[in-house]
Amino acid sequence: MNSQAQPDWPKLMEEVTAQFPRTLAYLAKPREKMTVPICPYCNNPSELVTGEVIYPGLWHLRKKQLYRCAPCSAWVGCHDGTTTPLGRLAKPNLRRAKMRAHAAFDPLWRKKFGWTETRFPDRRSAYKWLSEQLGITSAECHIGMFDVDMCMRVVEVCQGPDMTKDRKSKT
Ligand SMILES: [Zn+2]
Repeated sequence: MNSQAQPDWPKLMEEVTAQFPRTLAYLAKPREKMTVPICPYCNNPSELVTGEVIYPGLWHLRKKQLYRCAPCSAWVGCHDGTTTPLGRLAKPNLRRAKMRAHAAFDPLWRKKFGWTETRFPDRRSAYKWLSEQLGITSAECHIGMFDVDMCMRVVEVCQGPDMTKDRKSKT
């Protein structure tokens, strides 16, 4: 009776240890459901909201999905039709910086109406060039994940003398 009441500690530890790799494997398994991104400013989880909340009155943006941290006024949009964030949550100054970076960089590869040629044939080669300019790997090269300084560097390299030369001669 007495021996039964006393747990067999070594055996119990062995069982727990044996379970451990399975527990770790379970935790490491990618979740089907996207977890909400953590706000980089306050470290609290963000919330998924629609464009109606972020852009009240802008009818065409009402169905957009975004992650927001209300106390920080920080948000980030999602890839179209998904709940996958485009990058990190950003406050107004960083959002402006990211927009400037995209405005400087995207025309180098994105074909627009009336433009017959772009500086780079496709998005991939443009990003490859950008990562080389910034001295980072192409895996790290996502404007959505950049901070303000990095965005400013994007603008700088995209407006470098040999980058604007080609485009100006065409217009
Ligand atoms: Zn926050």
